[in-house]
Amino acid sequence: MAESVSAPDTFKVHGTGGDLIFMGPPGVGKGTQAKALAQESGWIHLSTGELFRDHIRRATELGRTVKTFLDKGEYVPDDVTVELVRDRLEKIGPSTRVLFDGFPRTVAQAEALDRLLADMGRKVAGVLILEAPRDELYARLSSRATAQHRTDDTPEVIANRLDVYDEQTRPVISYYEDRGLVKRVNGVGRVKDITTRLREALDNGS
Ligand code: AMP
Repeated sequence: MAESVSAPDTFKVHGTGGDLIFMGPPGVGKGTQAKALAQESGWIHLSTGELFRDHIRRATELGRTVKTFLDKGEYVPDDVTVELVRDRLEKIGPSTRVLFDGFPRTVAQAEALDRLLADMGRKVAGVLILEAPRDELYARLSSRATAQHRTDDTPEVIANRLDVYDEQTRPVISYYEDRGLVKRVNGVGRVKDITTRLREALDNGS
């Protein structure tokens, strides 16, 4: 896999304004990297997975609704997820940039996000995809399950999460690829090397 495959000229993240979508399969290290990138760039890190887990911890009504989906490694229904994002976005000023982590995960969510952003005078500036082979992802998720006792990381659930990503989220990549917004980055290697690759991918697009 190439370190970062060049994207068409329309991938411009720095210097243009607009929000960044960060995508990648379960276990690729998306959360860690997204947090670091958002922090160093001064962007808001909007992780739907983190927001859902926070609701579950606080035992809110939404938390009770979504818990079974997270436990089974299934996607939360689109309408619930889009409402969560709308709610969060409404609290963010128009000039503050957002890094979406783990959203959108379905084509319906991507379409809803386009409408949401347009309503708020915002737009998608670019889509970064962090990638790794399935066997590597499976191994990483299995060792994380042991280390963290995560209820969404049993062997069946892990396999299911990877299948769901292939079936429902890969089409989202094509959705944005058609608009020339996608850059792919190799997610295998040391954490800090991957951060460097991601940074370069963003800078090269500016
Ligand atoms: P993550 O922390 O991004 O891996 O998300 C953890 C879990 O939250 C996922 O396995 C889903 O159950 C749920 N989730 C997070 N984001 C979404 C989304 N955009 N659409 C549906 N479900 C989601």
